[in-house]
Formats: sequence, C-alpha cells, structure tokens
Amino acid sequence: MVLQLADAYGRVATDLRISLTDRCNLRCAYCMPAEGLDWLPSPARLTDDEVVRLARIGVQQLGITEIRFTGGEPLLRRGLPGIAARTAELRPRPEISLTTNAIGLARLAGPLRAAGLDRVNVSLDTLRPATFGELAKRDRLDDVLAGLAAAAAAGITPVKVNAVLMRGMNDDEAPDLLRYCLDRGYQLRFIEQMPLDAQHGWRRENMVSAGEILDSLAPHFKLTPDDPAARGSAPAEIFLVDGGPARVGVIGSVTRPFCGSCDRVRLTADGQIRNCLFARDESNLRDPMRAGASDDELAGLWRRAVAAKLPGHGINDPGFLQPARPMSAIGG
Ligand code: SF4
Repeated sequence: MVLQLADAYGRVATDLRISLTDRCNLRCAYCMPAEGLDWLPSPARLTDDEVVRLARIGVQQLGITEIRFTGGEPLLRRGLPGIAARTAELRPRPEISLTTNAIGLARLAGPLRAAGLDRVNVSLDTLRPATFGELAKRDRLDDVLAGLAAAAAAGITPVKVNAVLMRGMNDDEAPDLLRYCLDRGYQLRFIEQMPLDAQHGWRRENMVSAGEILDSLAPHFKLTPDDPAARGSAPAEIFLVDGGPARVGVIGSVTRPFCGSCDRVRLTADGQIRNCLFARDESNLRDPMRAGASDDELAGLWRRAVAAKLPGHGINDPGFLQPARPMSAIGG
C-alpha cells in the first residue's frame, strides 16, 4: 500500500532528489570556496545498496514517481550507472534524471542512457573560457560542452541547461547562452542564485534577479509567456522565444518563490532526509537502516520528516537563516 509523503500545507512530495556524493571537481563561486570543503568520510556515505533500498521504499511505499541523482557532482560516484540501472528496474518505474556539471558525461552519456537515464540537467554558466576559469576555478569548459553534446547524441533529450548569472562575472552572457542553446536544441533555464554557498557570501543586492535576466534578453529575443497551466509544480516560468516552439525558462527561486507547489524531498549522500533545500533539520534514515530498521519503519520515519515541512524557504523573511549544510552537501 502506498502512503503518500504529505505535509501540513496540502503538498505531496513525489520528486526525490538523491545526492550521491558531496564532492565536486569544480569550485563554482556560488557553491563552495576555491580550496574545497571537508568531504564526508566514505563510511558515512550510503552504499549503492543502501541508496537503492531507500529509492525502492520511496517508489513502492511512498508514491515517489521521479528520482533525480545530484551531488556534489554525481558523475564522480563510480556506482552511478549501476544505481541508475537498478532504479530503472523499480515498479512503478520512476522517471530518472541527473543534475550534473557534465565533466565526464562525454564518456558516460551512452552507458547512463543504456542504464535507463531519462533526462539530464547540465550546469553551464558561461561560454567564455576565462570566465569559466574564474567562476569555477578549473579550466574545464571544453569538457562541459563535450558532455552536453554527448548527452544529446545519446538521446537523453531534451537536454536541459541551468545557468546562474553572477554580477560582474557573467551577467552579460544571457543572450549568448540562449543563442548557444537554441542553436543546439538545448532547453536553457536561468536560475536566481540562492543563499546556499558554503562561504555564506550570498548578498541579495548582488543577486541577478529574474526580472533583470528577462530585461537583458528582451533586446535580443521576443519573449512571450507560455501557458502558465503547463507549469504545474515546475519551478521555471517558461517563455516562448520569437514565437516558439523554442523556449527559455527563468527560475526566480528568491524573488518569485514557488514553494506553495513544491513536490520535492531530498536524501543526502549520508542518508539524511531533508524536506526542503532550506530545512534546518534533517531526519536520519542511515543509522536506523544500519541498525536493522524494517522498510515500514524507514517509511514511517520518512513520512514524519516530510509532514514537518515548513511552508517555504523564508529567504525573504527578516529572520532568515541559511541552512548549516551548503548546496554541495544537500543536493541541488
Ligand atoms: S525552497 Fe523548499 S519548499 Fe521551496 S521549492 Fe525549494 S525545496 Fe520546496
């Protein structure tokens, strides 16, 4: 019997984001400092079998219909193709997606497609090698672009691209990024930078807002809002580009929050349930699982964790506090 992951505000979580590692091979300024972070020790991380067991409980007992693998950088997890393949064997078969920086995807796109990967979201913030080096502290732009092309060639379509604009760094690149994606059939979404960086350097006044992004596209493209009914619980506001069918999305996570229709729940690489990106509490499934808890007991803990979900992220409230864990450890 399926008991849904419902909260007190009438929302039901059906979209499970599983972080497979907190490590990353980039050091994007909006995420972590140049020197990296103290990574989780490997015994703390869920094993492949533990990940698949929790995915199975989510799908079979709790109504999860989509599973997205994230990180850190999930392509760094050696067992990813195997985890994806075993997830694809679950019934009812969940949709399987991946959020990645695409470094290594040139090699892995084919095996992941064969394993059952349905969709991919690639982070690409700049097309200028020098800006990439400054923003991500690594000279890997060519690897990212090759990974994108490989995903499209492997049929993991539509390839989605996520871009974060940072003031004074790449905030002039919105039209170029959109042109690049339109030319290749990728679906681009701009995302407002959120206060989830490990350095706690986010400042609202430095954030490039959804409104500014649209303003910077307006001289170059004719954008008309797509049917809002089609949005559902998806975070992006979608615009037709030059009359369509091409589209661009803008995710105003901060200035245009969409928490009222949130359907997500997160599992960290060390087995903690987070009912919101900005949750200040976590529910530990790893330790009870390792102590012998049954599937039903784990499902019960999971349901209680989601039931306590707050109505929204509260970034716009005066008392907002950034969560203790940075994005790389939560899973974006
Ligand atoms: S901030 Fe939290 S409640 Fe809002 S959409 Fe994100 S995960 Fe959902």
